[in-house]
Amino acid sequence: MAESFKNLETKLIHAGEPEPRVGGAVSMPIFQSANFEFAGETSYHEIKYIRLNNTPNHAVLHKKLAAAENAEAALVTGSGMAAITTSLLSVLSAGDHLLIQDTLYGGTHDFITKDLPTFGIEYDFIDADDPDSWKKKLRASTKAIYVETMTNPLMQVADLRAVVDFARINLLVSFIDNTFASPVNFRPAEWGFDISLHSCTKYLNGHSDIVAGAAIGGAELIEKVTHKLNRLGGTLDPHACFLLHRGIKTLSLRVKYQNKSAFDIARFMEKHPAVATVNYPGLESHPRHLRARELFDGFSGMLSFELKGGLPAAGRFIERASLSIHAPSLGGVETLVTRPATTSHSGMLPEDRRRLGITDGLIRVSVGIEATEDIIGDFEQALRG
Ligand code: PLP
Repeated sequence: MAESFKNLETKLIHAGEPEPRVGGAVSMPIFQSANFEFAGETSYHEIKYIRLNNTPNHAVLHKKLAAAENAEAALVTGSGMAAITTSLLSVLSAGDHLLIQDTLYGGTHDFITKDLPTFGIEYDFIDADDPDSWKKKLRASTKAIYVETMTNPLMQVADLRAVVDFARINLLVSFIDNTFASPVNFRPAEWGFDISLHSCTKYLNGHSDIVAGAAIGGAELIEKVTHKLNRLGGTLDPHACFLLHRGIKTLSLRVKYQNKSAFDIARFMEKHPAVATVNYPGLESHPRHLRARELFDGFSGMLSFELKGGLPAAGRFIERASLSIHAPSLGGVETLVTRPATTSHSGMLPEDRRRLGITDGLIRVSVGIEATEDIIGDFEQALRG
């Protein structure tokens, strides 16, 4: 299917759709059936059953997501964390060692630091911006390297090409969490990553109404992850598959608008006298702006900033901003503001957050699809006084 359609926008609509259409339905119906008639399947994983991730609602999403990232295969999961944990556990087992970027989504950081050691899996943090330092952390037991396309919440852009090269030379499996970029801005398989992970809860679904995940990559690896997921049980249910399918169709329209809007908002914030720093890879002031321009088709709808007045000013800003919603998560059609220290990264030790640059006053914005000038107008009044 991936070869049949050239452009992402067309793939998002047509890739993976059943032929002929089910009963002529233009929109893929929901197959709300846990089990299906036995049809002579010869392997356990082929038996049609929701937990085995192979209903028609799963199959269409798998083909569409693989096509969207120009990869061989994809698997949808019950949440982003189900995709991350199941993929890591498919590749790593007791005695193995993992290299991970030091600034990661809090949930991933927690799983790696709190749960992996209980399975006998060791890890070391790496500064993903300093490839020369990685060799020192490499062990004979190192099996994989894990990074994010744009880090949550600081919007750092690691040396992603070096990550792929390092993984190839040292025979490591390369993982990348591509949630923040979405396939519109970055397609990891095109750059040589082995497994791209998504919280589909965010941009891919885009409407803040389901929790879902995906692992996308080579057919062999994704089959391994699928078998692990079939055993662990982190399945996406067919109704959520349907909603994700519907959301994906408008992904490109939404994300391109959000890219542009976030860029304009970041520029406005950067010039405002009350603002101390803005983290957005599209700004020339971003330390890795040139790298981001080479790697990405757009800089995402995410940004974070700090106010000169620190935590008290951040509290006042969030209270006064009335168009944006004070809520965690991201990637939906509505603009959200949050302090990561109290939400996405609250599971981390305060000293770890401080060391990584995630201050208590840092505000993260997920830009929605409202009129840009309305968001800027709201932020302007929230910054006053
Ligand atoms: N990856 C990133 C970058 C995230 O921001 C999140 C959630 O905020 C996740 C993964 C986990 O996704 P989920 O909440 O769908 O399990």
